[in-house]
Amino acid sequence: MGEAFREIMRQARQHVPEWTPAKIHEALDRRSNGQDDFTLVDVREKIEWNEGYVPGAIHVPRGHLESQIEETVPDKSKKIVLYCAGGVRSLMAGETLQQMGYQDVVSMTGGFGQWKGNGFNFISPRTLTDAQSKRYSRHLLVPEVGEQGQLKLLDSKVLLIGAGGLGSPSALYLAAAGVGTLGIIDADVVEDSNLQRQIIHNTSRIGEYKAESARETINALNPDVTVKTYIERLDESNVKQLVEEYDVIIDGTDNFPTRYLLNDAALIANKPVVHGSVFRFEGQVTVFKPYDGPCYRCLYPEPPPPALAPSCAEAGVLGVLPGIIGLLQATEAIKLLLGIGDPIVGRMVTYDALAGEFNELRLFRDPNCEACGEHGHPENLTTYADVCAL
Ligand SMILES: [Zn+2]
Repeated sequence: MGEAFREIMRQARQHVPEWTPAKIHEALDRRSNGQDDFTLVDVREKIEWNEGYVPGAIHVPRGHLESQIEETVPDKSKKIVLYCAGGVRSLMAGETLQQMGYQDVVSMTGGFGQWKGNGFNFISPRTLTDAQSKRYSRHLLVPEVGEQGQLKLLDSKVLLIGAGGLGSPSALYLAAAGVGTLGIIDADVVEDSNLQRQIIHNTSRIGEYKAESARETINALNPDVTVKTYIERLDESNVKQLVEEYDVIIDGTDNFPTRYLLNDAALIANKPVVHGSVFRFEGQVTVFKPYDGPCYRCLYPEPPPPALAPSCAEAGVLGVLPGIIGLLQATEAIKLLLGIGDPIVGRMVTYDALAGEFNELRLFRDPNCEACGEHGHPENLTTYADVCAL
């Protein structure tokens, strides 16, 4: 240790009070009982934090302290307790914070090393692998996602009803984003007329089950993603169990019976359904979040007469349109999984491709809804025959 460094340390000690790990341990106990209020900041590098940290600490590396602390602790009169590995960097950091106007800054003597030496508890954080840190680096750069958000996505499960026009782009982007488990239920095979918009499939897959084709594409894109395929139609025999198993459901179906079936099961399991639909040049998307916004039956208590329902196989659509709506659905799913932003609940976002316009309708819960209303019973409602399956 050089002379100049010793002098800097001596001066820092004159300005920044130091507490022992034992004293901070007691203060943390008081804080957890609501008898004390301060912010505990770990100023070490990420690689050190990953080895373990003091429970209740937040991580602001020394190199980012000046740029990030005001966002983390806006109130400069609030006490901040700093620690590093050995007590030197936190002391320096304490001086910096005082220069920035923080009035009550404390440094832990002996740092994390002494904390562990005292036998106090610490947390070993779960972290991304190096390969994952590279793959998701653009997520890690967004504070609203970050490493914890990415880990959350990797732990998440999304069920896609259909690997068609809406399910294809949704599944592809959810896989790229690192949603760890994707369930895909689809009983159909890939046909040449699908390829104008169902981009998860390709020409060599014609005749293959869509769910299997989607799995092949996703496996090639991201080995972090487990794809569960269900080569069946969603019906009363499987809907309950499937919905129960997933966190968010993306509805890419084009028929009314499935929507009612899914709606009721999602209400029972309390799972959000991200609903999308497209027709010619227009699309719409909304999130049915049980008991938060309206459900599908609040909006459509009865299915339309079969004569008014668009023919399932032959409704025309501009090929890019389901891409736009499907990606809005994927975006909503990720927001729900991360708990960020304002999901499209109680709103219907519509897109008119010809006009180049997005619009929004407000949607309201029906207090008398027979599914989600005060006296609603989602478990014993009428389901309908699938006109498209006939
Ligand atoms: Zn309802």
